[in-house]
Amino acid sequence: MEVRFWGTRGSIATPGPETVHFGGNTSCVEMVTKAGRRFIIDCGTGVRLLGLHLMSKGQSRIRATILLSHTHWDHIQGFPFFKPVFQPGNEILICAPLGVTGSLSQVLSGQMETAYFPVELSELPAKIAYRHLAEGAFDFHGVGVSTHALHHPAATLGYRIESDGVTVAYLADHEPFSDVLWRPGAEPGKVESILHEGDRRHAEFMHNADLVIHDAQYTPEEMPEKKHWGHSSYEYAVELAGAAGVRQLALTHHEPTHTDDKLVEIEKRARALAASRNYDLDVFCAYEGCEVAVKPKSSAPGRQASGELSAHVARDRHRR
Ligand SMILES: [Zn+2]
Ligand SMILES: [Zn+2]
Repeated sequence: MEVRFWGTRGSIATPGPETVHFGGNTSCVEMVTKAGRRFIIDCGTGVRLLGLHLMSKGQSRIRATILLSHTHWDHIQGFPFFKPVFQPGNEILICAPLGVTGSLSQVLSGQMETAYFPVELSELPAKIAYRHLAEGAFDFHGVGVSTHALHHPAATLGYRIESDGVTVAYLADHEPFSDVLWRPGAEPGKVESILHEGDRRHAEFMHNADLVIHDAQYTPEEMPEKKHWGHSSYEYAVELAGAAGVRQLALTHHEPTHTDDKLVEIEKRARALAASRNYDLDVFCAYEGCEVAVKPKSSAPGRQASGELSAHVARDRHRR
C-alpha cells in the first residue's frame, strides 16, 4: 500500500520559513492499494494539493473514498478546494462519524454557505455520497476498514485499513485517557500493563500494524497545560505503538508553533525513547510530501540500521 502525506500540521495551516521541511498544510493522508483503491484520510488544507495532483494525471474519472476522522476545521477546511469535486463524472464517497450538530452533509455544507464560500455543496458537479460510520468493521470494495472511537472533544474515529497484506492505522485527533500510562508495579512496555482501559483499547486497536499515523501535537512538557484539548505527545504514541508491536510510527498533527528545528528535536527524543525501551519501532515525524511504501514484513527491505542513517537522510530518500 502506498501512503503519502499531503498535510501534517494540526489546528491551523502554518506556511512560512520555519515550517518549510515538515510543511504547513493541515491533515491529509492518501492511501492507495495495489488494485488502485484510493482512500483520503482527512481533508485539511493538504487535500487541495492532492486534488491538483489527481487532476494533473488527466484521468477521465476519479474515484475516492474520503474517511474523515471528525469535522473540526483542520480536517475539512481543504474540501471546498479539492478540485476533483468540480468535475462531473468523478465519484467521491465521504465517510465520517455522526456528530451532534447535524448530518455530515449539513456540516460540510455549513462551511460552504454563501457567507463563507462562493459555491454551495449541492452545486458541486461530482457525484458525492455520504456515509455515517460508528465503531465497527467495514468492507470497501475488498479493503477492510475498522473504526475505533478516539478521545477528543468531538465525535472522532480512528481508522485501521487492511489491504495488500499490510495494515495501516490513522489515529488523530486523540488525547490519552489517563495522565499515568502504566499500572503501578507492572512492567512498562506491555499492553496488559497499561493502566486505563481506554488507553489499553487504543493500543489494542493498533496491534501489529505495519504503519501507525498518530497525533503527537504536544511535547510531554506541554501536555499538562493543554489538558482536554484532545491531543497526544510523542511519548504516548511511542509507548503505545511499541507495546502493541507496531513496525513504523509516523508522528503527525504537528503543533502550529513547532518549527522545523523543534520537530527535528521531537523526532530525536521519540527515537531515543523507542530505543531505550528496546521497541522494534521505526519512528519519525511525518512531513508534507513524505511517501511510505508499506510492504508485508517478509518482503520489506528491513529496518534501516538505526543510527547509521539520520532520520532526515532516510526521509529524504523518499522525498520527491
Ligand atoms: Zn485536528
Ligand atoms: Zn480535532
